[in-house]
Amino acid sequence: MAREWAPDSWQSFEAKHLPRYEDAAALDEATQALASHPPLVFAGEARALKADLAEVAQGNAFLLQGGDCAESFAEFHPNNIRDTFRVLLQMAVVMTFASKKPVVKVGRMAGQFAKPRSSDFETQGEVTLPSYFGDNVNGIEFDAATRTNDPQRMVRAYFQASATLNLLRAFAGGGYANLRQVHQWTLDFMGRSPWADKFSDVADRIGESLDFMEACGIDPATVPQLQGTSFYTSHEALLLPYEQAMTRQDSLTGDWYDTSAHMVWIGDRTRFDGSAHVEFARGIGNPIGMKCGPSLETDALLRLLDTLNPAREPGRITLISRFGHDKVEDGLPRLVRAVKAEGHPVVWSCDPMHGNVVKSESGYKTRPFDRILTEVKGFFAVHRAEGTHPGGIHVEMTGQDVTECVGGAVAITDEALKDRYHTHCDPRLNAAQSLELAFLIAETLNA
Ligand code: PEP
Ligand code: MN
Repeated sequence: MAREWAPDSWQSFEAKHLPRYEDAAALDEATQALASHPPLVFAGEARALKADLAEVAQGNAFLLQGGDCAESFAEFHPNNIRDTFRVLLQMAVVMTFASKKPVVKVGRMAGQFAKPRSSDFETQGEVTLPSYFGDNVNGIEFDAATRTNDPQRMVRAYFQASATLNLLRAFAGGGYANLRQVHQWTLDFMGRSPWADKFSDVADRIGESLDFMEACGIDPATVPQLQGTSFYTSHEALLLPYEQAMTRQDSLTGDWYDTSAHMVWIGDRTRFDGSAHVEFARGIGNPIGMKCGPSLETDALLRLLDTLNPAREPGRITLISRFGHDKVEDGLPRLVRAVKAEGHPVVWSCDPMHGNVVKSESGYKTRPFDRILTEVKGFFAVHRAEGTHPGGIHVEMTGQDVTECVGGAVAITDEALKDRYHTHCDPRLNAAQSLELAFLIAETLNA
């Protein structure tokens, strides 16, 4: 018999990386406010994503998941939302065109605020303060007041997520994502990238295909799949008081859903046996992601899969491997084999970001583009060898022209990192690097 589950049952499990709030009354006030606010997503939408991911698990589609490492209050702007959405659309078009398979699009957007940190404290000069844990917990400025955890930040993050999701829904369904617009998606600053020309070629060919369809008597304006797209949201379900407050019972099925996003994932640092985060995720009906790094043993992975997906429902679990460019080909096969042998129907996705962080000579945390690409290629090679489906990618990226990851065709040098290094946490691919990665993946898909 499965143990009882409730939205707060995680509270009697071991919770790592959870902020402590000094003022219990203030925490209560914030979570009660959240619990009375409207859900951000409807359970039926989470089920639709699960069905789409089941297609990925069966090898009939790909998953593209991407967005900021950490969304912030400072970068909250319609242009940022539009540009990230637009680059994700471009990447999806390139991958669909190459693979001839649908691409399921999931943003690390509209709720990706809370961050696990390697150290609880940060020291600058003589001063030691709590680390920055994401804008829904505390602020990034290095002063004692800002670094104090404030539960009202959760409420502000909820409203930002809600406005972001509203705009994403408008773009996805309101005409912006119409395939006839494919040429308009090219960003000005991509003009410098050789991949902008390649994208223009793809856009021409799509335009010709639409013209051809029309000549044959099929009016693309009457085909809903060409008029708009499905776009889903996701974030790491790290800040459990927030996730609990957003968890509601679906009136149609009676099942519990975390209505803060369509999909949530468990991070590499919180996916251990007996973890509060695993306990929370176990009871919600959403599709669940789980990061798989080099420290994950096969036995532990199989136990976690049995806990999180006892019914072996396809689309329920996405395993996001993040080994590092030099470890993926050694470390991933044992996990893939064990999961396959047990018959767990998972989506395998590759996060080529989190195993490839280096400190640049100029002192910035960066990720070399060639290492990111090497990990993706290694991931594809492992799945090819094992006869399993390399289901997708999970990337930290932005539609902005930032200088955070070194390399790429318009090479960002170590020197240039300081120019536009805006991330609140980990370095992101910029728009040109994201598109380049999609083209290079497309080449692998066609090889
Ligand atoms: C993240 O995705 O931002 C993250 C912290 O990743 P991981 O759990 O894989 O370290
Ligand atoms: Mn990150």
